[in-house]
Amino acid sequence: MVKNEASLTFYGGVDEIGGNKILLQDRDTRVFLDFGMSYSMKKKFYSPPFLAPKSERSLMELGILPNIEGVYRFDPKPPTVDAVFLSHGHLDHSAYLSFIKREIPVYCGETTATILQTLSEVRRADLEFSVADLDFHTFRTGDKICLGGLTVQPFHVDHSVPGAYGFVIETSRGSVVYTGDFRNHGAKPEMTRDFVEQARASEPVAVVSEGTNMTGATVSSEVEVEGKLHSIVSQAEGIVLAEFAYSDVDRLNSFYHIAKRNNRCLAVSLKQAHLLNALKKDKGLHVPDLDSDDVLVFRKSKKRFDKWERDLIDRYDGRDKVFDVFEASKRQCNVVLAMSFYDFEELVDLQPAAGSCYVLSASEPFNEEMEIDYEKLVNWLRHYGMPQYHVHVSGHMMPLQLKAALREMGGKRVFPVHTENADLFEKFMSNLKSSITHVEKDKKYTL
Ligand SMILES: [Zn+2]
Ligand SMILES: [Zn+2]
Repeated sequence: MVKNEASLTFYGGVDEIGGNKILLQDRDTRVFLDFGMSYSMKKKFYSPPFLAPKSERSLMELGILPNIEGVYRFDPKPPTVDAVFLSHGHLDHSAYLSFIKREIPVYCGETTATILQTLSEVRRADLEFSVADLDFHTFRTGDKICLGGLTVQPFHVDHSVPGAYGFVIETSRGSVVYTGDFRNHGAKPEMTRDFVEQARASEPVAVVSEGTNMTGATVSSEVEVEGKLHSIVSQAEGIVLAEFAYSDVDRLNSFYHIAKRNNRCLAVSLKQAHLLNALKKDKGLHVPDLDSDDVLVFRKSKKRFDKWERDLIDRYDGRDKVFDVFEASKRQCNVVLAMSFYDFEELVDLQPAAGSCYVLSASEPFNEEMEIDYEKLVNWLRHYGMPQYHVHVSGHMMPLQLKAALREMGGKRVFPVHTENADLFEKFMSNLKSSITHVEKDKKYTL
């Protein structure tokens, strides 16, 4: 006899930014909300590439991968989970799907599936990221997915990657809302508005909310970022190097608009070009058209190219589209070049002209997709006489706006996750009608 109860258990995302793995159980239906990699747990023990986890056994031994029966592909027991629902494609929410049994369906937005599949083509599969053979089921905003006793409704939200969703889930105890990662100062704040309204209308018994930005909050927006980028690019005399996260399409669009406005081309990496090609089919998205004259593709100097790289290069063969560092060096004041710090070896051949600038357009010194060795970055910039600008806006809701959103949703209980400041969150939100639960890892909360 199955008891008539619903519960939440948090296997990740507790006292850390990312690593979300939240089990929602309603009678005999069990689903995971996200299944991400925990960067902070990993950092405690590992320092890749010299000290990297060898197998899932190591990850479980150290508690980086939670010990849950019937979930992992290396566990012979039958599946104990009905599905995983992915809020978005950032690796701190999705990477550990690598370990999930392939018969467990993974529900995600169409864009998220595209991003993960493209990412699995451009980076070699490794222990902690191999998602190519997962059983993806894609949804669009407002769809209703019925699974056992649960009805899951995804609603789009604004975040620093396209295809991000929050969920409103009907359980036998009432509605459970999961915000995923969200903000309302990006390129599409109206999407977050839609989600908050839907969440409120469901009269939630529980809201699982991100709480990333409880310290270091700012007041800014993607529109403001564009304005700042314009101010830099319009005055720069040499090349402008732009560093931003691979899947941050809003930021890529901002750089593209500003490059165009200043009669420069935006040169993207082969990886980004491959992603742009894949996202082109997505009707709900606006991305720069790779075929347009103001988009170039930068190929790094290397001897061997992977097949997907070769295909891209061949496709544009002879069309003045794909260019190398020597070409870039000749056209410095006509280009905004998307380049990661890890590609700085190219600067030796590029020889940035006086008046060139480097724009770090990601959070520093840590973000979900890259960790920057800041001191080395500064040494390179010093060597080439390039000042560094930091122009960025977070992918996450700011504290006052988050509080307003939670007040509007009116959940009976709020469970903060994806934050290093749960105590601060709790105090800051303490005059809401909702009761705030300070989440403990691996503990089951009955709703
Ligand atoms: Zn996250
Ligand atoms: Zn995210």
